[in-house]
Amino acid sequence: MSTTGRIIGVNGNMITVQFKGAVGQNEVGYARLGELRLMSEVVRVRGRYADMQVFEDTTGLAVGDSVDFSGELLTAELGPGLLAQVFDGLQNPLPELAEKSGFFLKRGMYLPALPRDRRWAFTPAVKAGDTVMAGDTIGTVPEGIFQHRVMVPFGLQGAWKVAEVAPSGEYTVDQKIAALADPQGARREVTLLQKWPVKIPIRAYAERLRPTEPLTTKIRIIDTFFPVARGGTYCIPGPFGAGKTVLQQLTSRYAEVDVVIVAACGERAGEVVETLREFPTINDPRTGRSLMERTVIICNTSSMPVAAREASVYTAVTLAEYYRQMGLNVLLLADSTSRWAQALREMSGRLEEIPGEEAFPAYLESVIASFYERGGVVTLRDGGSGSVTIGGTVSPAGGNFDEPVTQSTLKVVGAFHGLSRARSDARRYPAIDPLDSWSKYAGVVSTDDVAAARHVLSRGSEVGQMMKVVGEEGTHLDDFVLHLKAEYLDAVYLQQDAYHDVDCATPAERQRHVFAVIVRLLKAKMRFADKDAARQFFHRLTQATRDWNRLAMETEEFKQQQARLEGMLTEATGHA
Ligand code: ADP
Ligand code: MG
Repeated sequence: MSTTGRIIGVNGNMITVQFKGAVGQNEVGYARLGELRLMSEVVRVRGRYADMQVFEDTTGLAVGDSVDFSGELLTAELGPGLLAQVFDGLQNPLPELAEKSGFFLKRGMYLPALPRDRRWAFTPAVKAGDTVMAGDTIGTVPEGIFQHRVMVPFGLQGAWKVAEVAPSGEYTVDQKIAALADPQGARREVTLLQKWPVKIPIRAYAERLRPTEPLTTKIRIIDTFFPVARGGTYCIPGPFGAGKTVLQQLTSRYAEVDVVIVAACGERAGEVVETLREFPTINDPRTGRSLMERTVIICNTSSMPVAAREASVYTAVTLAEYYRQMGLNVLLLADSTSRWAQALREMSGRLEEIPGEEAFPAYLESVIASFYERGGVVTLRDGGSGSVTIGGTVSPAGGNFDEPVTQSTLKVVGAFHGLSRARSDARRYPAIDPLDSWSKYAGVVSTDDVAAARHVLSRGSEVGQMMKVVGEEGTHLDDFVLHLKAEYLDAVYLQQDAYHDVDCATPAERQRHVFAVIVRLLKAKMRFADKDAARQFFHRLTQATRDWNRLAMETEEFKQQQARLEGMLTEATGHA
């Protein structure tokens, strides 16, 4: 049954293997290097030759070395124990690897993703004789703050009968907890653990829906101006150092989701290590405990082979889909997808495929599209629903968005949060460009108010440009006030202090309340004696509004500060 082959060519991380028997696209094989078995994946089959990408350093592999094919696709282990873990792209638990091998990754070393010795308290949800289908809940085990559903393996076709189910008790992930039988008499054992090929979407749900409900991130410029929908997709392109990673960390902390999956493909070698060090120290505003308890990190440093990087985004999205099947809302953050695209480019180059733009493969766009398509809201067979929201950063060289990865991503996502160098240099955080960014989703405030505010922003910015040419003296007082209004909106609403206890996260209700007041200020016909008076007024207004942003909404001080702002509005409009 098992197919074997011999290496006839080694080109970086790519090997060409001549085989006897059958080999399929994306099948996993192991190249033998002495005692070591190096995991590889078939990326192309031509006749009796398979091109394989090796997920490891290939130093020492030579023509004539043998390869064993597994007959299986690259799979992820799904079951309780995923949360709070840090994996590499092949789902090796990294802290354990560090323990076992003394340093991060030793070649040819693979560990089970889920601990085999840990016991989980299983409670059955079905009884013998019940009819079940793929994705149905067989029972639950508590995992962190969730009831982790143990589900009928996603690959099963049609209706099955529960032949037996284990009583409540403690079980390890590979102990049998149920047996299923189909009408033809086939039997299938169920454990807490199931495996799923990472490149195939999990579709054991009833229906896919259009994402319509806003996903509150508590970042004002996002929720109010460029919202993300639950189950939607968005991208954050930005030059190096503009704040992509910080923005994703803020979102992972404050977004109203159950589970966060972070696929970290480091730009700098130290960046992933930083993420790993920081995450466990971040506390979860929802539970007061470590954010890590509802997070999974899949990480790759730039020192790991590119093929593992490619695998990591698929592993990450598979874990996200798995938790969605449990009726949870999952946020998948990929940082940065440019590193992933570079892995594709490298592989395509080795395969000597006809290159597309900037040497990326011609199929780059479809690969990116099928990744984002795995996001979505679904209804489950039990009537519940779950979602996977995908946010990916893109780090184009030189911050130029006119390049294939940014452009391919923009074609498929529902929202675009473009980070601007000018804004980050001016420390206007989050540095999302309010003029270039867009979203196709509905947000948390009235669209008319947003349109009015955006009008002020764009007109105010035009006046600002003009003023650079003609100077302040050459600018009409009304235009000057418009410019001040735009700057005010930017300073008190678009910018948000990530390090202030209150300002760091603005719930939807507060955004609606605050934005209504600010829009009233923006729309007001203000009268000033001259430009200096206007400037001074907006300076005071900005200070007062910033102070307001720092007061907890439930407090008396918050109300008083709002009254002060309204008093200032009366003062400026000349109406009592
Ligand atoms: P990128 O991932 O785009 O390369 P980072 O997210 O690592 O950039 O941000 C670079 C630096 O910019 C951070 O280390 C931090 O000093 C600063 N920064 C980014 N976003 C913010 C923010 N929201 N508030 C304050 N500082 C920020
Ligand atoms: Mg970064």
